[in-house]
Amino acid sequence: MQTEIHPTTNAIKVMCTCGNNFNMNSTMKRKEMHIELCFKCHSAYTGKRKIATAGAIEKFQKKFNAYTKAIEPKDKSE
Ligand SMILES: [Zn+2]
Repeated sequence: MQTEIHPTTNAIKVMCTCGNNFNMNSTMKRKEMHIELCFKCHSAYTGKRKIATAGAIEKFQKKFNAYTKAIEPKDKSE
């Protein structure tokens, strides 16, 4: 490992608005960091929100069908 190319890291306290606190290492000079979402309260992790709902893919394809057709290569038999 090369020496003197790595920044110094400090343990900082991360505080989320949901009340969850945890420590992590960071190159930031400050000792505390405030965040609005963390892995404990974000809906993608809590399971309150489904990332892909039923029919979402079909809806997407229907919406962008015209675009994908325009991108598709035209008949090469010319
Ligand atoms: Zn949180």
